[in-house]
Amino acid sequence: MSEGEAKKCYSCGVEMQFAQRIPFRIRGQPGLVKLVFGEWAEISEEMLNFDVHVCPSCGEIRFSTDEKTRRSLLGKAFLKKCVECSREIPIASERCSYCATKQPEYKEQ
Ligand SMILES: [Zn+2]
Ligand SMILES: [Zn+2]
Repeated sequence: MSEGEAKKCYSCGVEMQFAQRIPFRIRGQPGLVKLVFGEWAEISEEMLNFDVHVCPSCGEIRFSTDEKTRRSLLGKAFLKKCVECSREIPIASERCSYCATKQPEYKEQ
């Protein structure tokens, strides 16, 4: 996906207009980031950029991310914390790769 690509509103099909780029520092604004990304916010200190586009017709707002932010979020999203030692392990792991503790079954929310 290129930067200049037009984004269309899902509801009315109108081309959405770029409003602004919002930088999030994950640890800096825990409340705000938690609101948007839930648990992920607690396991990163990176700076993430979100572009906000607004539909001039219905006012719908869409967040999009740049490549680095996207990769960062997707990477974190596939990690969970070991129930025993709290270290980060892949979400599908049956056992912790550090302490070998068996993990509870992973459930989609
Ligand atoms: Zn719209
Ligand atoms: Zn562990």
